[in-house]
Amino acid sequence: MTEFSEFSLDASILKALEKVDYKTATPVQAVAIPHILAGRDIIALAQTGSGKTAACSIPICQKVDLNKSGIQALVLVPTRELALQYSAEVQKVGAVKGVKVFAVIGGEDASLQRAKLNSGVHVLIATPGRLIDFIYNRSISLNAVETVILDEADEMLSMGFYDDLEFIIQCLIHEHQTLLFSATMPKAITKLAKLHMKDPEELVLERKDDSLGQIDHRFLYCTHTRRTIDLKEMLEDLNPTQAIIFCHSRIQVEQVARELKREFGDTDYLHAGMAQNLRQVVTNKFRQGKFRFLVATDVASRGLDFSNVSHVFIYQLSDDPCLYVHRAGRTGRYNKKGMVITLVTKRELSSLNKVMALLKQDPVWISEPPSSQERASSSPPRRKGRSRKR
Ligand code: ADP
Ligand code: MG
Repeated sequence: MTEFSEFSLDASILKALEKVDYKTATPVQAVAIPHILAGRDIIALAQTGSGKTAACSIPICQKVDLNKSGIQALVLVPTRELALQYSAEVQKVGAVKGVKVFAVIGGEDASLQRAKLNSGVHVLIATPGRLIDFIYNRSISLNAVETVILDEADEMLSMGFYDDLEFIIQCLIHEHQTLLFSATMPKAITKLAKLHMKDPEELVLERKDDSLGQIDHRFLYCTHTRRTIDLKEMLEDLNPTQAIIFCHSRIQVEQVARELKREFGDTDYLHAGMAQNLRQVVTNKFRQGKFRFLVATDVASRGLDFSNVSHVFIYQLSDDPCLYVHRAGRTGRYNKKGMVITLVTKRELSSLNKVMALLKQDPVWISEPPSSQERASSSPPRRKGRSRKR
C-alpha cells in the first residue's frame, strides 16, 4: 500500500486528498505519480475504475505554479460529460491549493467560455472539437502549457479524433510533457506516441488490478419480444441501488425509458441527440442519486464515474466486445462489487462468444441457457461499420 504522504506533495494537496477521503494510492496512482512529478512522458494502460483521473490530477495540481499566468496543463477527453467529471476531480484535488480549473466543451455558450478563459485558468479540460474552435478564433493561448494529457486516448481515436489530436499537439511547439491514459493500446496510439512523445515510460497495470474482476457477469437468454418484460422482471427482483441500462440506439433508449418510467417511475435517459445542458442535468441528478434507472447509449459508457451503480444491464449486446468492457466498467467502481446482466438473443450468440473470449470465462446463465446446438449454429456477426447514432 502506498500512502500519499510518500510522494513529495505539498501539504495543501495532501489536505485536499484527506478531505475526499483518499487514504492510499491505487496501483496506477502509485506508479504514475512519481514519473509525472519527475517530468517524464508516460503511457499508462489501466482498466476503467482504476483511478486514472487522480493519478494525473494529483501531480498536475502539485506542479501548478499559482504565480504564473496562462494555462499550464491541458487535458483532452473524448466527451463533454467526461470533461465535466474530470474537471470536478481536478477541482477537488486542487481546491485547498487554489488551482483554477475550467472545462471548455461543445454545446455551451462560447462567449461565456471565452470570458472565463480570460479570467485566468491553470488547468484546462477540453474536448478536441471545441478546443480547435478556440484555437482557430485565437481565443486561447497554449503557449504556457507544460503538460498535455490525453485521457481515454483509445476512445478519442475510435471517435475519429486522430487528426484533431495531431493538430492540437502540433500547436504546442515548445517543450512540454505528454501523458497518455488509455484502457487499450490500438496501433494509432503507438503511432501518436512515436511521433509526439519523448521516450515515454510505458506503465502497464496487471490484469489483477482490473476492476472487471470485481464484477459478476451474468447472461439471460431471451427472445427479442421478451427483452423489455425480462428487463422489468429483473429490475423488480434484483432491486438495484442504481442501474444503467445500455441500449443500441437513441430510439431504443427512449422506448425502454418510457416503459420503465411507466412501471417504476424513477427513470431517466441519456443519449447524444439531447441538448448539452439537459445531458448535464441528467448526469448530475443520476450521480446525486435522484433517480434509480438510467437508460443510455454508449455516450454514458465511457469513463463516467457513477459510484453507486450496483447493476448494469445490457439490453442488446453489441458485436464489439470492447464495448462490453466499457459498459460493464460503469459498475464495480473502485473496490465496489457490481453485477452486469446481458440480455442475449439467438442472433447475438456469436457476439457473446467474443465477449466470453475476452473475459476468459464461460457464460453464467440466469435463465435456461441456449442449447449447444443453438450456440454452435449461431449466425455470423453482423457487418461492422454501419453507422448508428449514439
Ligand atoms: P478511471 O479513470 O481509471 O476509470 P476514475 O479516475 O474515474 O477511474 O476513478 C474511479 C473512482 O475511484 C472514482 O470514484 C474516484 O473518486 C475513486 N478513487 C480514485 N482514487 C482513489 C483513491 N486513492 N482512494 C479512494 N478512491 C479513489
Ligand atoms: Mg477515466
